[in-house]
Amino acid sequence: MAWEALRCCELCAHRCRVNRWEGERGPCHAGVGARVFHMQTEMADEAVLRPVFAVTFSGCDLRCDFCITGRASWDPRVGTEMTAPDGSAKELESIAGAARRALASGARSVMILGGEPTVHLPSALELAARLPDDATLVWKTNAHGTAEARELLQGVFDVWVADFKFGNDACAERLARVRRYTEIVRENLLWAHRQARLIVRHLLMPGHLECCWRPVAAWLSAELPAVEVSLREGYWPAWFAGRHAALNQPLPRGEYLRARDLGRALGLNLIP
Ligand code: SF4
Repeated sequence: MAWEALRCCELCAHRCRVNRWEGERGPCHAGVGARVFHMQTEMADEAVLRPVFAVTFSGCDLRCDFCITGRASWDPRVGTEMTAPDGSAKELESIAGAARRALASGARSVMILGGEPTVHLPSALELAARLPDDATLVWKTNAHGTAEARELLQGVFDVWVADFKFGNDACAERLARVRRYTEIVRENLLWAHRQARLIVRHLLMPGHLECCWRPVAAWLSAELPAVEVSLREGYWPAWFAGRHAALNQPLPRGEYLRARDLGRALGLNLIP
């Protein structure tokens, strides 16, 4: 079903309806096959998940100017061919084997991320199907998927780590070229919370405490009061961040402390 969905793709909220099997492309530029540009055991994710064996797909439906992985995330032609343009397995088995070995060596979870893995949902599901039933599988997403994508993901991943990057649609459109952002992300978060363990990530951006973090924190406090919230302070001015004066610097420590205090004041379940 996921492979067939690429014939009229509505996996993300851009809802392009392009036929990726026939060479048509949407804003993600992705075709049928998927590539992996990074794969290793990491210690930088949330403490409850790490060590994490991370499998990172290239290609994304958002265009965040401050993207830390830059071209690799934006360009689905980057990386090792996991599945071929006709959907057949290329390095799929070896990538799944590396994940299984990492689990056997002590990795606590396997995280599938990008870019944005929703763009490559068929290949991501092929990978998940090759991992042990008792493994903790983590879906790291920008939460910009559709109900159709969510239906295909139902019950597959134990944990959703979902970004809530922007607290308003104007910042989302200006910095990531995406519309109706807050409505779509909220819908995804509410759904994910009903069917899996949900961790909401917010990467603090310099100068965006009031316009982005405050409304995100207020909504989480009201609608998902017990959810685990990962407030990330590791912003770095990468890729095209220099196009925006406020973003062209690391996050001042004082902004992180104010943001953390705001989260605490709202009773959020902040996790390390
Ligand atoms: S994943 Fe999104 S951007 Fe890419 S073709 Fe499908 S609907 Fe369009």
